[in-house]
Amino acid sequence: MSERFTAVEIISAKRDKYELNNEQIDWTVDAYTRGVIADEQMSALLMAILLNGMNSREISRWTDAMIASGEKMSWSMLDRPTVDKHSTGGVGDKITLPLAPLVAACGAAVPQLSGRGLGHTGGTLDKLESIKGWKASLSNAEMLKVIQECGAVICAAGTGLAPADKKLYALRDVTGTVQAIPLIASSIMSKKIAEGTSALVLDVKTGSGAFMSDPKDAAALARTMVDLGKRAGVTTRALVTAMDVPLGLTAGNSLEIRETLEVLAGGGPSDVVELTLLLANEMLDAVGIKPKVSPSNALKNGMAMDVWRKMIKAQGGDNDAPLPVAKEKIEISADSSGKLLTLDALKVGISAWRLGAGRQKQGEILQLGAGIEIHAKPGDLVKAGQKILTLHSDEPARFDRAKEALVGAFSIGGVDDPIKRLPLVVERIEG
Ligand code: URA
Repeated sequence: MSERFTAVEIISAKRDKYELNNEQIDWTVDAYTRGVIADEQMSALLMAILLNGMNSREISRWTDAMIASGEKMSWSMLDRPTVDKHSTGGVGDKITLPLAPLVAACGAAVPQLSGRGLGHTGGTLDKLESIKGWKASLSNAEMLKVIQECGAVICAAGTGLAPADKKLYALRDVTGTVQAIPLIASSIMSKKIAEGTSALVLDVKTGSGAFMSDPKDAAALARTMVDLGKRAGVTTRALVTAMDVPLGLTAGNSLEIRETLEVLAGGGPSDVVELTLLLANEMLDAVGIKPKVSPSNALKNGMAMDVWRKMIKAQGGDNDAPLPVAKEKIEISADSSGKLLTLDALKVGISAWRLGAGRQKQGEILQLGAGIEIHAKPGDLVKAGQKILTLHSDEPARFDRAKEALVGAFSIGGVDDPIKRLPLVVERIEG
């Protein structure tokens, strides 16, 4: 088949800071998906996009072209409105796990397509795979059955959904081109729009442990995604939230499932509960549901836990099987008394990754019990010798490198010193 453009002319145009027109964008995404544009050519184009940017028309068209590369799902057969949540990823960010069953318990349908860990950030599917028997890959028919029976489903996106993104994402991961607003926004929104949800709440992370560490960049990313959603007819809102400190008191797959169960049992760390409730209220409001039982009560009275157990069982999971526990653990203690002022999310995330909670290369099998337990958060008073972190791994040889990552991970000051951390919600953006 004769091609309308060449990859070299498209790369040169972006290198020289020209806008790409709609035909060029459609061809580029389609030709890359068909294998006509080689990985090395796409790598050069991605770097030119990262350096020279794209305007809003180019981002919208690129997103549409990625959606058009695959199937579009529909939930019109459901008798409740659909709403989904997406986080840009962080350390200890297990919010999707209690949130999806909670929002379902309050009356919405939640088709939650989730991902695996990326770099130092954890992935919802990896966490769920710590539950014996739980299955991440479902056919569209199985997904529909789970959502009809339980109100929520958390699973992997099928191969038919935005295949252009799958190829592009894998290439970005190995070419240093993940951190570009046009590329992140189009990647996330192409999948969410193709998934067919009627409303979407975005949790855009900022701080050291997030892909967008500067709150201004995170807000620009949030605005770009909200605009893309609005254009596609998806009610979209975004909260820019703190990821300078890990969320909750655990980072690592089975450790985070344990914490999720605490939240679903009406307890759990206050920041996890607060963010879960904030996002649940946004999601319900986005689809106009005024729940008979408030999300806060649905956590306390077991309604959300009932949906969770049903959803896990429907995907083959054994709710009563013990969770994996790492074979070895070591403790890191405070070397002075005072107030904990900082706890760096990136350092904790890298350390958990090195303990075996994340992958060093594609397809690697994770140590599901590996990770970090956090015993004190900024603002807490600590005593010299008191344990601050517990490191878990199956392989003691991993502890040295994990400890190296934690050098400077926390600081202790005087009891009157101010703590340095972002507010939980930095900004809210609505279309
Ligand atoms: N998550 C995605 O799906 N895509 C990105 O580009 C970044 C995070």
